[in-house]
Amino acid sequence: MNPLAPYRRITIKIGSALLVDKAGKLRAAWLADLAEDIAALKSEGREIVIVSSGAIALGRGLLGLSAVTLTLEQSQAAASAGQIALSQAWAEALGRHQIVTGQILITPNITEERRYFLNARTTIQTLLGLGAIPIINENDSVATAEIRYGDNDRLSARVATMIEADLLVLLSDIDGLYTAPPAKDPAAAHIPVVERITPAIEAMAGGAASHLSRGGMTTKVEAGKIATLAGTAMIIAKGTETHPLKRLGEGGLHTLFQAATSRAQSRKRWIMGTLAVSGTVQVDAGAAGALKNGRSLLPVGVTRITGEFERGDTIAVIGPDGIEIARGLSGLDSDDARLVMGKKSHAIVELLGAGNRAEMVHRDNMVLTGSKEELAS
Ligand code: GLU
Repeated sequence: MNPLAPYRRITIKIGSALLVDKAGKLRAAWLADLAEDIAALKSEGREIVIVSSGAIALGRGLLGLSAVTLTLEQSQAAASAGQIALSQAWAEALGRHQIVTGQILITPNITEERRYFLNARTTIQTLLGLGAIPIINENDSVATAEIRYGDNDRLSARVATMIEADLLVLLSDIDGLYTAPPAKDPAAAHIPVVERITPAIEAMAGGAASHLSRGGMTTKVEAGKIATLAGTAMIIAKGTETHPLKRLGEGGLHTLFQAATSRAQSRKRWIMGTLAVSGTVQVDAGAAGALKNGRSLLPVGVTRITGEFERGDTIAVIGPDGIEIARGLSGLDSDDARLVMGKKSHAIVELLGAGNRAEMVHRDNMVLTGSKEELAS
């Protein structure tokens, strides 16, 4: 069976040790084969987002930095020089398959602060919509020690959940999780499926770091927690040989971490977890009835707006009697919302221009207030 078959939007994380050899040179032939695998997945209709390490490892070689441990300044300089080479390598490798790449460099505030989060997500989604492949890495040359991930395992999990990927694949130099680090314990057994990340699973992770990666199994299992709790499954597979994704697709050895929830439920739980709403919209009886039947909130049903909010902020929906009936992520900022409240959809296109959403709150981004308990289970 093809372990990738059920998934449509896939984030693939590539470790430094796969892309760069011990002498600091790009493994160009390996990358060319991987690009072929990626192109094949894309031609099957899947959306692919790459999180690629390797900037520091490549930059070391380019700048002649041979020390075993680099200072922070040196590794930031290495990342700066290496990132150019890394992007170029990806653009060339995927360009051979007529795939355009877009580079996005991320710092933790981008995945954690809503304003940046929404922007980054929109950029990635737009690139995917245009048939391109986003290539993501941490912005190591400006990130300071306190505000960086430091490893692309957790970064890729944040990216995968941010774009609501169905699957995160960590390609590394190990073919999955073992009951103990296999390098130290010959009796270690491979675990094909992890249904839930328990303390026992975390204990198995140990600390198996390779010659280049910062990660090791501990950060991979942490990545698994981030992903699976948000409804994204995760696979750890070995990437060192040629055509690693093709091998995986043919059933190659790997560990699957099953998603602990559905993505829709995770999003709704997140909405309900927002403590402070940024604004409210009051709706008429017709709209209130439509919401209860699972429909989206359209501007035509909105009678009053309070507060200032951005698109993507959590707002409360108030019924005609003044009682909160739902919470959701606003599809419009408060200025636009005031402009179009009470208006029909075709008038909205005239006011805001084509391409703007017609929903005040899309039903996928809304939770009815009464369903709070149901989500807690
Ligand atoms: N962002 C780092 C780089 O590109 C890699 C971090 C990691 O190894 O996980 O060099």
